[in-house]
Amino acid sequence: MVLKIVQAGDPVLRQRARELMPEEITSPEVKSLIVLMRETMRDSPGVGLAAPQVGVGLRVIVVEDRPEYQAGLSAEDLAARERKPVDFHVLINPRLVVEDATPAEFHEGCLSVSGYTALVARARGVRVEALDEKGSPVSISARGWYARILQHEVDHLEGTLYLDRMETRSLATMENYRRHWAGRSTAEVRKALGLPERQG
Ligand code: ZN
Repeated sequence: MVLKIVQAGDPVLRQRARELMPEEITSPEVKSLIVLMRETMRDSPGVGLAAPQVGVGLRVIVVEDRPEYQAGLSAEDLAARERKPVDFHVLINPRLVVEDATPAEFHEGCLSVSGYTALVARARGVRVEALDEKGSPVSISARGWYARILQHEVDHLEGTLYLDRMETRSLATMENYRRHWAGRSTAEVRKALGLPERQG
């Protein structure tokens, strides 16, 4: 079974999600939510999903970047994005700190802004402290694409969408992204869009 993913314009995507109390984490409701979020993310497919995206205002995130999702990307694209497979995991009540603020700018999408993509600059390295699905503390140090996924998903818990952070001129439908922009460097894309060169 999969859940319906809510789309931009739904108020739940603009509200701050609430923390789970320790006793809630292992409750049947939350266990079931996590299973459904995993199945919904895989069905889409997506590399991350936050509970507000399925209409639930709780601080729960699932992440998974499977090797097969990266099959369509060239070795250069994967290297530029510092993208490597990430095993499925759950983050509850996450706290994110930027460890390497160097901006990395690439096209990013969101299951709640279906069919679109835009350039978004994200910090290259972050640390996330959270609880796992058993309520045990976890600490993750992530770089590159994984760090991007974590920043994107934690943003969802604050009611923030990538639309709030994107380079607005770069917004494209997925179809036009594939047709015109995929495989080009961010510097080339910025030039073609009439955007100033990015420092760093
Ligand atoms: Zn999203």
